[in-house]
Amino acid sequence: MTETQTHDLIIIGGGPGGLTAGIYAMRAALHTLLIEQGVAGGQLNNTDIVENWPGTEKITGAALAEQMAAHAARYGLPTLNKKVAELEPGLNYHTVRLEDGEELRALAVILATGGSPKKLGVPGENEYYGRGVSYCAVCDGFFFRDKTVVVVGGGDSALEESLYLAKITKKVYIVHRRDAFRAGMILQKRAQAEPRIEIVWNTVLTAITAGIEGVSGVRLRNTQDGSERELATDGVFVFIGFAPNNGLVPAGTKMNADGFVVTDHKCETNVPGLFAIGDLREKYVKQIVTAAADGCIAAQAAAHYVENKKNSG
Ligand code: NAP
Repeated sequence: MTETQTHDLIIIGGGPGGLTAGIYAMRAALHTLLIEQGVAGGQLNNTDIVENWPGTEKITGAALAEQMAAHAARYGLPTLNKKVAELEPGLNYHTVRLEDGEELRALAVILATGGSPKKLGVPGENEYYGRGVSYCAVCDGFFFRDKTVVVVGGGDSALEESLYLAKITKKVYIVHRRDAFRAGMILQKRAQAEPRIEIVWNTVLTAITAGIEGVSGVRLRNTQDGSERELATDGVFVFIGFAPNNGLVPAGTKMNADGFVVTDHKCETNVPGLFAIGDLREKYVKQIVTAAADGCIAAQAAAHYVENKKNSG
């Protein structure tokens, strides 16, 4: 493709949302390009087991990612494994600038860049990242075989990953700042029934300490009475939610106070022809299935947008 040619649609991000958008866009015969800087499947690759993808009772995140990518490839979805540096919206077309300087154009763009794990912001967290501090049990759990780990958080991710870690490690402490979990009931019941998991309620982690071999302990503070104590641990897994990867969202695009992009029911932003889907978008439920649904909606809406644009141009 030369610089002057314009794609109908560029999708930035190849997670479940982006890949679904790609499948629908190819089925709608849009001249499409998907750009992904890492591995297809996004956060799915950091997920152990998926049990809520309809029609498939149980599948590993990595296997589901592979299936989705293969499905999109069967429709001939062109993909580019590069990093996008900037997205500049325009009246006639949007410009996507790659980190290597290449410039691409598209009538419509779907942003599907997802989110990244939030950090605790405590002393030791950055210093010992990779030496006992982790944000991915599937990636790093193996290093803690028969050891003790602390998990921070009370949502679906914290409980799901704690259950995964309980299969590998000797002991999992779940440190949660309140006296009730945010996670769904099934996960709560499973975590509470798991003998290797101990829940530490009403407690925040204030520091991570380490020796020569890496993380050796954490400092905890009880939120009820303010008491402090040390807890020996070999690892700390942080699952306290996700921050949107909104670095490419152009200035002037409406976002909420937490940085999630605000869209209408078609997943379109306030910038015409610019769509946001999946975990990047402000919405009630963030699931693989809702990311995929967003991908479908945005691709269909983009197809209409492109058709109108071509007819009016
Ligand atoms: P989440 O639902 O936002 O939960 C974050 C948890 O971390 C909450 O319990 C929160 O406590 C706690 N937290 C937040 N900031 C904290 C801080 N600074 N210090 C200590 N604790 C902190 O995030 P998530 O679990 O990553 O899930 C993200 C989305 O993906 C959710 O919509 C979730 O349902 C979905 N998800 C679904 C599945 C599944 O269906 N199997 C699996 C994974 C994720 P509070 O409760 O006190 O706010």
